[in-house]
Amino acid sequence: MGGPGSGNWYRWDTRRVIDAVVCLDVRILSRQGVLREGVQAVVTWRQGQQAECSIKLACERRGIVLTYRAQRAGGVWQTVHQEIAVERVRTGFGMRALLRCSECQRRVALVYLSDRLIYVCRACMALPYKSQCERRDDRLSRRMRKLWKRVGVANGDTQQSVWSYPKPKYMHQSTYERWCELAEEVRMELQHVQDMKLVKLLSRYVTVGDGRTWGKG
Ligand SMILES: [Zn+2]
Repeated sequence: MGGPGSGNWYRWDTRRVIDAVVCLDVRILSRQGVLREGVQAVVTWRQGQQAECSIKLACERRGIVLTYRAQRAGGVWQTVHQEIAVERVRTGFGMRALLRCSECQRRVALVYLSDRLIYVCRACMALPYKSQCERRDDRLSRRMRKLWKRVGVANGDTQQSVWSYPKPKYMHQSTYERWCELAEEVRMELQHVQDMKLVKLLSRYVTVGDGRTWGKG
């Protein structure tokens, strides 16, 4: 992979790997007893290997008002206010609280911190599952190597265009161009998938306030 100098290293993508995104779970809020009108609280939770997440929450009649600090990859920290409607739905186990996605209005149990720095549902994030990405990654990688071999590139650098390698002497120009074009298409797709993996890594820096940063912005 390239470094900070290469073009799309810091490109932020709305398609993020689901396991890595900061996620707010209405069931945790319920359990912590903060979904009662008039309650104001700082809610903290831990998510996998990531740092502890923390948001200020005020429960009002129509829903919850969240205040949190968030940051786009490489960007400045911002204080964000977001109101999320809470609805009570009757289920076989009694009443259950659900959140209404601010973007599509669907009722969901989980909302994720999007690159717009607000919490939205999974559909609005268009989050792929981690395993799907990995399979796609491997498949594309194999396809690209195969195409490269056809144009005589044995151990190419995936950050580099196949055009930067010389054309094999025996090969017709048109054949060479056809394979190279295909190889480039696959490489671009592979880079996109790898970007998503990178986003997973970077999302560690998009934690929601750590409780010590309040009031600084
Ligand atoms: Zn939505």
